[in-house]
Amino acid sequence: MSGSEVEKSKHVSKSRQKPKREEMPVQESKERIKNFKEVALGYTPEQAIAEAARCLGCKKPKCMEGCPVEIEIADFIGKIKEGKFKEAIDIIKDKNNLPAICGRVCPQEDQCEKFCILGRKSEPIAIGRLERFVADWQIEHDKAQKSSADRLSALAVKQHYSYSEDVSHREAVPEGQAVLLRKQEKNKNKKEKVAVVGAGPAGLTAAADLAKTGYAVTIFESLHDTAGVLRYGIPEFRLPKEIVDIEVDAICKLGVQIKVNMVIGRVLSLDDLREQGYSAFFIGTGAGLPYFLNIEGENLNGVYSANEFLTRVNLMKAYLEDHDTPVWIGKKVAVVGAGNVAMDSARVALRLGADEVYIIYRRSEAEMPARLEEIEHAREEGIKFMLLTNPARILGNNQGWVTGIECIRNELGPPDESGRRRPVPIEGSEFKLDMDTMVIAVGQGPNPLLLSTEPDLKLNRWGNIKADSEGQTSLPDVFAGGDIVTGAATVIQAMGAGKRAARAINEYLNTL
Ligand code: FAD
Ligand code: SF4
Repeated sequence: MSGSEVEKSKHVSKSRQKPKREEMPVQESKERIKNFKEVALGYTPEQAIAEAARCLGCKKPKCMEGCPVEIEIADFIGKIKEGKFKEAIDIIKDKNNLPAICGRVCPQEDQCEKFCILGRKSEPIAIGRLERFVADWQIEHDKAQKSSADRLSALAVKQHYSYSEDVSHREAVPEGQAVLLRKQEKNKNKKEKVAVVGAGPAGLTAAADLAKTGYAVTIFESLHDTAGVLRYGIPEFRLPKEIVDIEVDAICKLGVQIKVNMVIGRVLSLDDLREQGYSAFFIGTGAGLPYFLNIEGENLNGVYSANEFLTRVNLMKAYLEDHDTPVWIGKKVAVVGAGNVAMDSARVALRLGADEVYIIYRRSEAEMPARLEEIEHAREEGIKFMLLTNPARILGNNQGWVTGIECIRNELGPPDESGRRRPVPIEGSEFKLDMDTMVIAVGQGPNPLLLSTEPDLKLNRWGNIKADSEGQTSLPDVFAGGDIVTGAATVIQAMGAGKRAARAINEYLNTL
């Protein structure tokens, strides 16, 4: 063997010895399709320490480059390695106000984990799972600590924050809030009021960061509850509502007021808010308007937009057995699309009692935009994938109900403007499928309600707000971020935009 071959084989055997990534414990697929309980169960402390021990502790860690909210990843993983979970979560919370949520739903494979050095030769560190572990550890710890001593300290800090009437019924007081509130107390010199429109991840992040900087922040939310897609889109089995409540509460306890049932653009305009003394605005109204296929039969009974379907289940609580929310579901369900929204719709349909559920997608597996874990979980649960297939028309009966779909097969042509290979229909390949329910999950656009009342706010050709990377719009006092700017994207991208805009708003207000 030559010298270089010896080197090579040494290297291979070394990398083979590296401990494998810790598996995430999950609910058995046969069981979980009968309930809405969380699928991924979270690491044990032993697993978290073992996973953290795989981290090389790089001197110049790359992983942070993939985190839009700038978490000091290597530092928090180092603390987990030492079993110092409290210190680990404090490092995360310094930058991220929604860690238990991000740990569950971020597409880490395309964010921080994509940059992890270990990923070049084996599997990257499970950064998201570790983030979830310490966030959950803190939540459990806080629950256990709800003792009389904690109640006293809660009382001591309570005078500093005001709850909105609508969300004050929730009681949990996370440990560590006192420290943040003391920091805020130092900043109380800020006299300006900031209004945030939309209580999704973008709005919540902008509001939390502005409150930490010392501003009086009010979020105006059109729905009767907070958190945007985190609550009305993502199902309970992926992101329990209790987790959403706890993390939103923690933001309220920073001093952020949330006013629900406030459709800005209808109940109040930005000018009304200016008159009420608000000096700057962050718009994070998301992409809540569903797109359709625009094919024959789309108005038949039994055809849902994913938005309507998931909202009925989530916001109107059809996932709870003691709720009577009407959600009709047939025996054979087709979901069109292959993003997170499509995977969620398919898995919800299964849990509501469908016998067979199909994902129909016009491109191939490689182009499917959903998180890898969701695709794997959907497969394990028995969802059938019909790829390189496009619905051409929806078939119905005399009573106006769906009975089937006519589809056409595709092949992949050269890449289109999205960079993904374009689906090209194969002539003569049409075929029919029996189906009694269809869910259309082919994307969402911006909700025009607020935008139509602000003629000076410049929009792009898709109707999204034009804003620079710091969120500055065409109006000097208005900033925007999240799906309303980028089009439907991800939770962490929306949060990153909220964070950058909060900084820009602070700079803007400092110049007044
Ligand atoms: P939103 O979350 O949409 O929040 C906008 C808020 O503004 C809403 O609460 C809305 O009611 C409110 N609003 C709208 N108009 C007004 C108005 N005029 N006045 C007052 N309030 C208003 N991303 C991931 O990273 N991982 C996932 O696993 C994932 N799964 C998803 C599953 C589903 C079903 C869906 C629909 C999306 C998913 N996404 C996922 C995408 C992600 O949820 C969004 O990119 C993210 O929520 C965008 O955040 P946002 O704050 O910009 O908007
Ligand atoms: Fe650890 Fe990977 Fe980040 Fe390096 S890049 S510090 S190995 S998580």
